[in-house]
Amino acid sequence: MKCGETKKELYFYIKDELETGKKTEIENHLKECSACRSLLGGFSKTLETVDKNPVSYPGKNWNYFASEILSGVYEKKKFIFWKPALVFALSFFVFAAGYIYYHQKKLQENVASSDTEKLVTYLSNFDIPELYQ
Ligand SMILES: [Zn+2]
Repeated sequence: MKCGETKKELYFYIKDELETGKKTEIENHLKECSACRSLLGGFSKTLETVDKNPVSYPGKNWNYFASEILSGVYEKKKFIFWKPALVFALSFFVFAAGYIYYHQKKLQENVASSDTEKLVTYLSNFDIPELYQ
């Protein structure tokens, strides 16, 4: 028997699920091959640990468990999505505020200058200097 074949059968050998012929073949190989012997040692230890610590599934609470995980993932995603959105909103607000401030100031200047012009035109209609001469 070769190493590859032995490795394939090791699980069933440990679990004692092999027919006597195969079992003897593997035992003969193990006597000659230290690599497969050490593999058998590690494998059986692993299986022992697994058997001693059965994995307990959440059972009837599975849906709750799954939804908790999903909502956690969703919250994380939402947060990741909101961060750049917030930065964008803030920069837009700053830009809009600056834009409005700039244009309002310009508008006020225009209104002020046009008012002054109007006033000058209005006053020039009166011949004030002549009146006081
Ligand atoms: Zn071997």
